[in-house]
Amino acid sequence: MSSIAVSLLDCEFDESKCLEADDYQTRVGKWCAGCGDFGALNAVKRLLAKEQLQPEKMAFVSGIGCSSRFPHYVNAYGFHGIHGRALPIATGLKLARPELDVFVVMGDGDCTSIGAGHWIHATRYNPNMTVLLLDNNIYGLTKNQTSPTTPEGYASNTSPRGSVLPALDPLQATLGVSNASFVAQTADWVPAHLYATLQAAYDHNGFSFIRILQRCPKFTPDVFDDAIKNPDHVELLVHADGVDAPGLEKLFKARREHNPKDLDEARALAQRSDLLRLGIFFKDDSFPVYDEIRAVSPVSAEEKINKLEKEFDRYGV
Ligand code: SF4
Repeated sequence: MSSIAVSLLDCEFDESKCLEADDYQTRVGKWCAGCGDFGALNAVKRLLAKEQLQPEKMAFVSGIGCSSRFPHYVNAYGFHGIHGRALPIATGLKLARPELDVFVVMGDGDCTSIGAGHWIHATRYNPNMTVLLLDNNIYGLTKNQTSPTTPEGYASNTSPRGSVLPALDPLQATLGVSNASFVAQTADWVPAHLYATLQAAYDHNGFSFIRILQRCPKFTPDVFDDAIKNPDHVELLVHADGVDAPGLEKLFKARREHNPKDLDEARALAQRSDLLRLGIFFKDDSFPVYDEIRAVSPVSAEEKINKLEKEFDRYGV
């Protein structure tokens, strides 16, 4: 981690000492030209600068996949984990260091296949962290294999005649888990919406799950074509407690008032396939947060020794 630590106080009194978005990037991302991961990284940098998060007070955790290179490019603590295991690593980190802002970045193969068990349980545990699922509908890093979110009929190296099963929908799955407290969908090609969604997720106290529809020009160049070429096929979920951004109303005419506290409607909307919906499907700040439940007051060295001595005494002969 490079040392650009600037105190918030410095920034408050002297704007020239504030961190800018580019201060949060360590190097140029090694992704293909046109990859949606660049857009996600840009939105994250903007959020970090807006919040003036200090690099030594946050951590990015990832699994394996193209998007999991994220921690290498963000000026923060990072843990490039193992396939499907980003969430248990991040949960452990949050329990041990609750003062850190924790961000998790996963791909669809990483999260919804090998990491599916962790995804379901982390959703239920509801630790306070911001979770980005960069969903390009394919395994990209390993060069074009069908993932759980690959559309039915879509050909890949592992399914040359097309995927034979209906795709798994990460929104429906997450909304089905008890204690799921924040579920949203956005797209890398709508930067204003992506940024606003990230901000709402960061502000939420709990497990903020964002599915980011991510373009992969290399292996799934046309999966989102319908929505990209026809903005009328996109419906924005809007609400005073949801996300919106200036200018989006000009681009997207279809807008639906949706109260993010209405879980039944959120589930019903996630099941519909008539339009692509972007926005906060569900949000409730009142759900139990695991790191708060498990929080223990700090124990001094002396107290620790006393407790150990007491334990040892139990076995004295
Ligand atoms: Fe991005 Fe796809 Fe290239 Fe991976 S293979 S870097 S997801 S465009």
